[in-house]
Amino acid sequence: MAERFHSDWARTAIAALREDAASVSVTPLRRDIERFGESIRIHLKDESAQPTGSLKHRLVRDLLLHGLVSGDIREGTTVVEATGGGAAVSLGYFAQMLVLPFVAVMPARTHPAQVEAIERFGGRCELVDPPLAIYETAARIAEEQGGHYLDMFGRAEAATDWRAGNVTGEVLAQCETEPRWIVCGAGTGITSATAGRHLRYVGADTQVAVADPENSSYFPSWATGYAGYATGMPSRIPGIGRPRVEPAFNAEIVDAVVPVPDAASVAAMRYLAERRGAEFGPSTGTCFWAAMELASGMQSEGVAGDLVVVAGDGKQSYRSSFYDDAWLSAKGFDIEPHLRVLEEFAASGRWTI
Ligand SMILES: *Cc1c(COP(=O)(O)O)cnc(C)c1O
Repeated sequence: MAERFHSDWARTAIAALREDAASVSVTPLRRDIERFGESIRIHLKDESAQPTGSLKHRLVRDLLLHGLVSGDIREGTTVVEATGGGAAVSLGYFAQMLVLPFVAVMPARTHPAQVEAIERFGGRCELVDPPLAIYETAARIAEEQGGHYLDMFGRAEAATDWRAGNVTGEVLAQCETEPRWIVCGAGTGITSATAGRHLRYVGADTQVAVADPENSSYFPSWATGYAGYATGMPSRIPGIGRPRVEPAFNAEIVDAVVPVPDAASVAAMRYLAERRGAEFGPSTGTCFWAAMELASGMQSEGVAGDLVVVAGDGKQSYRSSFYDDAWLSAKGFDIEPHLRVLEEFAASGRWTI
């Protein structure tokens, strides 16, 4: 007979994660960040308000729940994930909550502050070079230690509920009228896929747009209809854009993929922070730029409605990078022309690209 995994420990762990989902991590909608007359408005769904500061809070919680209800995570199981980003912080938070040992496998060039953050949660960091080796290393470590490889890219779809408890469901409940567009980025692709599924499930007419940075495979894949498209190049916008099309991304259920130049993403991030008092990370800039472009299309077609941008994380992790002018020019970002486009559009309603 199989060892009984649904122990009292597992019951308590599952209850704690469900409590987080039901109450702790419902995020606010910041309304009217931008408006064009009475008819077009842009709102932000603020995922930086998650207890661990990013959209990855939801995904990591769902992956842990999936592991628990599947019997892959038991009392004392070492949980392993390959990530240099926000997912590691979310995993640290939940691993501490559930008293699970965890290992974050990260690229060797990961910022030391990120490593410290993991260690403060009691996790162990494994630094690996080249960066793309993090996935097989994480799988191997889990195998060797009898642990569980979380595998967010591979398991996002199995773990995420498109019926209830997702970003899109919350957005619909928070809006008085059905938005015209939901605009998000795609890393694993699960936020966009869940949005598309949930909207069909509830019969809403809202459309889904994915805002895609340079080097990402999602825009060329969506535009050509070729799911195997792979740029093989890393994105420079943290959290979004991938060198290949990840399994959770579904081109059939997104209505548009909008390519956004990286300098435009950063300009939009700065515009939000400096002109609108909305301090978010660069992936939110990518989404906001795409929302402004979609708004310009609505305006010229005489279409009214709201656009909701899913803001993936906050300013905090980017103070000494994307928010630092010297860093930006050292990296070759010229944001001025893009800032002027946004300011001109906000002032006169003319999109000058
Ligand atoms: C992961 C991430 C996204 C994209 O979310 P997916 O659901 O994985 O496609 C957007 N913004 C940030 C900051 C992220 O970390």
